[in-house]
Amino acid sequence: MKIWKVLAPGTIAAEERPDNIQTATQAKVKVTKLLLSPADLRVYAGSAPAYPVIPGRFAVGVVSEAGTECVAVEKNTHVYLNDMAPCGQCEQCIAGKPENCVRVHVAGTDCDGYLRDFIVTDESNLSPLPPSVSDEEALFIGIVSMCEAVIDRLNVSKGMHVAVFGAGEIGNILSQLLIYHQAVPVLIDEDEDKLKAAAGCGIYYTFKADETLGENIARITGGRMAAGSVFNSYGPLAPELPFMATAAGGTVVYTGFGFPERTVQLKAAQDKRLTLTTVTNDYTNNEAAINLLVNKAVNLAPFLQRKNRIADLEQILREEKDHMQAHGYARCSVIDML
Ligand SMILES: [Zn+2]
Repeated sequence: MKIWKVLAPGTIAAEERPDNIQTATQAKVKVTKLLLSPADLRVYAGSAPAYPVIPGRFAVGVVSEAGTECVAVEKNTHVYLNDMAPCGQCEQCIAGKPENCVRVHVAGTDCDGYLRDFIVTDESNLSPLPPSVSDEEALFIGIVSMCEAVIDRLNVSKGMHVAVFGAGEIGNILSQLLIYHQAVPVLIDEDEDKLKAAAGCGIYYTFKADETLGENIARITGGRMAAGSVFNSYGPLAPELPFMATAAGGTVVYTGFGFPERTVQLKAAQDKRLTLTTVTNDYTNNEAAINLLVNKAVNLAPFLQRKNRIADLEQILREEKDHMQAHGYARCSVIDML
């Protein structure tokens, strides 16, 4: 097996490692596609808790060999490699409620990721894919799953206005899912290109985060403002912006795969009695996410435009790191692992 390890910030190296099926419920999976995500680029750029680390949070593959007691997968099953797993050791896990695990292990950050040619893993870490979901679409299961958790937290109802701050892949996909759930997203960003891409995905209300934003949201909501807001981490926008956009008594969800240090002025939120809450690393909706992809609830085309080959890995990492440092945000790209 070949793995790629970030040895130290900015340094990645390939390594050979033997790996064979050891228990009857394990399967050997050929990794076919990987989503090089902002979280991976931050690990490469220097934000991992420890080095070395095998990055790669989101990946799909094909089972090449299944243990004799595997029931969910067999040879040639296409699978999503689950990007998170419960720790198995915390009070919640021991109490038989892994869905409430307080120390979820995230692939590519807390444990080895999927930047590798093969992986041997228990079949419980594999989500079989229906034939109508392509490998490329399946790379987004983790993101769709987290967006569904955000929608649950907002208690979304028909016609509800939700202001979404940050039009990267999470903000865009979340807005599309809000429409699918019959809510009305208002997507806000500083970047015209991201807003244009979102409009192309059918998101009707997109606004720049400028001095007219408050008026624009007031106009759309008939003066009531948004019943809920969602703020995506690692963007250039001020984390207080949702306080202005949200109606008194509303909910503000901070979401993303990790959070940078931020200082927030709370007074406006307190005066409006807002509920501030966080959704991150929620893997409980993976099956729902697969169903949403079967139903073509999300247009992922804008995120599938940049495709690269594993042979060019070092060059891609350098380019994406430069882009992240120049523009203040990281982009997703699909890596063909074959
Ligand atoms: Zn746990």
